[in-house]
Amino acid sequence: MRLIQHFIDGVEVGGVGDARQAVFDPSLGRPQAEVVLGVFEDLDEAVRSAKAAQPAWAATNPQRRARVMFEFKRLIEENMESLARLLASEHGKVVSDAKGDIQRGLDVVEFVCGVPHLLKGEFTTGAGPGIDVHSMRQPLGVVAGITPFNFPAMIPLWMLAPAIACGNAFILKPSERDPSVPVELAKLAIQAGLPAGVLNVVQGGKPVVDAILDHPDIKAVSFVGSSDIAQQVYARGAAAGKRMQCMGGAKNHGVVLPDADLDQTVADILGAAYGSAGERCMALPVVVPVGAATANALRAKLVDAIGGLRVGVSSDPDAHYGPVVSAQHKARIEEYIEMGVAEGAELVVDGRGFSLQGHEEGYFLGPTLFDHVKPGMRSYHDEIFGPVLQIVRAETAQEAVALASEHQYGNGVAIFTRNGDAAREFAEQVEVGMVGINVPIPVPVSYHTFGGWKRSGFGDLNQYGMDGIRFYTRTKTITSRWPKGGAVTDQSFVIPTMK
Ligand code: NAD
Repeated sequence: MRLIQHFIDGVEVGGVGDARQAVFDPSLGRPQAEVVLGVFEDLDEAVRSAKAAQPAWAATNPQRRARVMFEFKRLIEENMESLARLLASEHGKVVSDAKGDIQRGLDVVEFVCGVPHLLKGEFTTGAGPGIDVHSMRQPLGVVAGITPFNFPAMIPLWMLAPAIACGNAFILKPSERDPSVPVELAKLAIQAGLPAGVLNVVQGGKPVVDAILDHPDIKAVSFVGSSDIAQQVYARGAAAGKRMQCMGGAKNHGVVLPDADLDQTVADILGAAYGSAGERCMALPVVVPVGAATANALRAKLVDAIGGLRVGVSSDPDAHYGPVVSAQHKARIEEYIEMGVAEGAELVVDGRGFSLQGHEEGYFLGPTLFDHVKPGMRSYHDEIFGPVLQIVRAETAQEAVALASEHQYGNGVAIFTRNGDAAREFAEQVEVGMVGINVPIPVPVSYHTFGGWKRSGFGDLNQYGMDGIRFYTRTKTITSRWPKGGAVTDQSFVIPTMK
């Protein structure tokens, strides 16, 4: 069986530990490979390699670093088809969606191709007599990223591209459930001209995460995953004095005002709720129609549209979505469906019991729809992360804003309306980090920045965009004085002021 290894100092290595974990093909419901599970010594080896390589990489001028990024981008594009198929076979998302996963990461690589400009500091001439002030952004040194299973290309690229372009060495700890693509990306980076050691991949689970958080030579850690773990990782890393950014779970609401174009809205909600089997942190698993007439009309159209959805294996070009990632995750989603029924929500479409002929062992779930879901229910409060859409009816637009604002998560939210005033007010008031106006999945473009509020994000700086550059650099400010003619100025025992 194929063995997925660490990638340290420019080569694939098995590491010191002998523990391994099966990597499944969710469409078939059986193992297709094994991944090595690292221990502290493997991480330490990666840190040593990174520490040795980082100073020379940081001293490489930013334009040359950008050229490596340009070539990295070209190589990823050249290998798009094989990367997408590998990604889909481990994750379960359909190949077209896997290409989107890679493309959204590539957008960030493209953004950091402009790193010479992004790293420019500020300059003030004549801040005082003979005094100039300038600032520079310097890399932190060795930094690390810990990523979830649901975007095995995009999220590693969100992190590693700005980190490396800024002159750091980066250690990636990918999800153990779909670990192949991150290694392939690291190989392409080396092929693009990145020196060995600047990008290392260490496979594993919690022991490697703990080793990253405790290692004194790792200066910053970026984490994306579920909220409880994000919060623990944030606390442990911050206590060790590291710079931390930890993105967590989500439960995004789609508010539908009575004046929305319902056909377009239903098409948008369908893709956002069920695409990638609902395993996106920017999925739209909750829809909030305002007023009974909107709710009834929306529900009827949703039921019709759900009937036309095709669930298939990840390589099926006509499938709208594929299996969920694992048998355990499928069982967990089914428990939430059971819970919704027990809590008194109306199960309108039940996706349990779905079976795909010839793939009976695959982790498939049909699309599920609940109506009359209420804020007090645990199935509403928790993130389900599956192809389950919940209708929560609201009487007024204010009630809809309050629902999204008061939810524990605050990653994304969308509003569907033709009313510009209402949309503008909604965007201003709602307590959520990313807002879509007639845009169901408002993942910001790479030159803006990605981050949720409340339990969807711990830390101050977002992913990518200028926040990504800020996260992976620190500012140094230099104040210099060149007195004319070398004249000696009077002694002063007071704090210098620019009189
Ligand atoms: P997860 O929290 O189980 O795992 C994330 C990472 O943490 C993995 O690398 C995993 O190996 C590691 N890990 C697992 N258990 C750990 C522990 N006890 N201690 C330390 N590390 C541990 O998340 P997942 O199931 O891989 O991904 C899905 C979750 O990620 C969802 O909650 C989803 O909303 C969230 N997510 C958030 C964003 C965002 O930007 N906000 C983006 C994508 C996914």
